[in-house]
Amino acid sequence: MIIDSTPIGPAKRSESAEALLPIYHAGPAGEPLLGLVKIARCFGVSAELIDLGTSTSAVEDLRISLTSGGSVWDLASLAKTILSADWMALASDLAASASNTLLLATKEEGGQSALLGVLSRGAVTEVCSAGQSNHVGFHSASRRWSAELAGHQYASSGCDALAMTLGEASNVEVIMTRGNVSPAFISLPCASSHVFIWCTRSVFDVDHPLGQELEFEQAAGEYVPAIIFLRAAFGERSWHSPAIAADIIIDDPVLSKRYGFVDFPKLLALARELCFHVTVAFIPWNYWRTRKKPLKLFLDHRDSFAICAHGCDHTKNEFRTRDYGDLLHRGHLAAERLDRHRERTGMEWDRLMVCPREDYSLEALQAFADSGRYLGLTNTACIPRDLSEKRVRGADLLLPAQDAFFGFPIFKRHYWTDISVFAMAVFLGKPAILVEHQDFFRDQHRALTAFVRQLGALSPSVRWSGLTDLACRTCRRRRLVSDAWEVQFFTDEFVTENPDPEPRIIRFLRRVSGSAVITSVTVNGSPVPYLRDGEFLSFAANLNGHAAASIRVGRSANSNGHGVPNSRIYEAKVATRRFLSELRDNWLARSPAVLKLANRLMQMMRLRSVK
Ligand SMILES: [Zn+2]
Repeated sequence: MIIDSTPIGPAKRSESAEALLPIYHAGPAGEPLLGLVKIARCFGVSAELIDLGTSTSAVEDLRISLTSGGSVWDLASLAKTILSADWMALASDLAASASNTLLLATKEEGGQSALLGVLSRGAVTEVCSAGQSNHVGFHSASRRWSAELAGHQYASSGCDALAMTLGEASNVEVIMTRGNVSPAFISLPCASSHVFIWCTRSVFDVDHPLGQELEFEQAAGEYVPAIIFLRAAFGERSWHSPAIAADIIIDDPVLSKRYGFVDFPKLLALARELCFHVTVAFIPWNYWRTRKKPLKLFLDHRDSFAICAHGCDHTKNEFRTRDYGDLLHRGHLAAERLDRHRERTGMEWDRLMVCPREDYSLEALQAFADSGRYLGLTNTACIPRDLSEKRVRGADLLLPAQDAFFGFPIFKRHYWTDISVFAMAVFLGKPAILVEHQDFFRDQHRALTAFVRQLGALSPSVRWSGLTDLACRTCRRRRLVSDAWEVQFFTDEFVTENPDPEPRIIRFLRRVSGSAVITSVTVNGSPVPYLRDGEFLSFAANLNGHAAASIRVGRSANSNGHGVPNSRIYEAKVATRRFLSELRDNWLARSPAVLKLANRLMQMMRLRSVK
């Protein structure tokens, strides 16, 4: 229940009690420290660089830092500034500290090995090169820090990494290794908190525009330790995702009992038994084809089955063109077809779009956003392939959904290789969305069952749901002060609740395009005042203990697409593509040799259907 509501803007937000992270160094701050400042800001923590190079009270300042929530000590620069005897005293203070401290070592030389030996009380004996490290690993025993990442390895860019050699101390927890065994990030217990030690030559610049997502994915070793430290030091005061949702998307099927290797009666029975959810990315062109007989099966399983939009005609490059008017028309047409399908069959559709071949242009994102018909996109790639300049940053990819373009969210989905990619998604607070095609089900659901069971073991609280529910609950939040939370959400419809038993002020944030015409914001049906500051829309509501809030952002939609009537030749081509695709999926796919030949034939005919 809402008690009151008041507008609040980002400027006012920043005045409020953000968590503070002092970063102590001496002399000019290098790239690793600047990288840390940016990562902290990404997670709602205001980092302050404190130069002790000319301070007459450097030792006292460091000692005082041990009474705060957390601090970072840059050993490369501080090693030259503070005398050995003082480090010995600080080591005792560190061991008795109730504050979480990150000791950052960025070089092999400069006395850092000796200094770490003192501060870790012999636990670390040397800072050393880990050589060309092609992957980072998260120790299976470090789950309390690395959470879902524990026991998993990730490819890295193969840079000359830094690591450390450990002594005989038994109280060291190795959190992350470089290469096979070289510890690069560890924790040591102190009085009532922890000292974290991170050896790295660089810290990922989350503001650097990326050419491709792989740059971000292969740099995990340069930002995950910072995230782990921030979570340990600031807990719920840093941005975090309160709940993780999951879904399984199958691209292309029509709604019949069987499609290729998908046996829907068996699949939906298994979904109900194991409590997972399946969404068919349904091609709107097929809206007239759903027959009554198999429909009952799907309607009877609405608790574990749904459909969403998959293209419009599902032609090649359908949403990769740059013609905004045509894209807007196609977006509306796809939605209209699915509305008609719903009216005819009773089958609701989740207002998420899956683009054919995972391909979309920047203009397509704008058209989807302006149409007002879609809550978001779900795709394996969160960066359009046609960008003329790099515009997506690591900071955008650290969000639960990437909404850098027009405030239109892209929910990342993944093909099955193993569970590690989903472990990273869940660790970063993103939904766990598996996408597959019919051939994934040729093994009698073995891989599917492995995914569901492993995801359940990885994150027991994961909530299986359809895509509308998943999108409308995706958010991140942080506690500002004891009686106030801030929540950033990503869709024009959003549902959340006050997590505390007492009344709380909830401040809401939603990124919107500068050109978007926002007409209203309601909380539980009541209009509330809102502010627009830069690219953010913000408002606030007071909620009673554990009260739910249903948010709706109203906007003026653009329905002025300029679709031209399709020619008979085009219609015939679309129908041929669908016929050949289904022939391939239902019959030819059963024989690899025939499938290969069929694909070659379709290529030769320039009619190759796209998945
Ligand atoms: Zn497809």
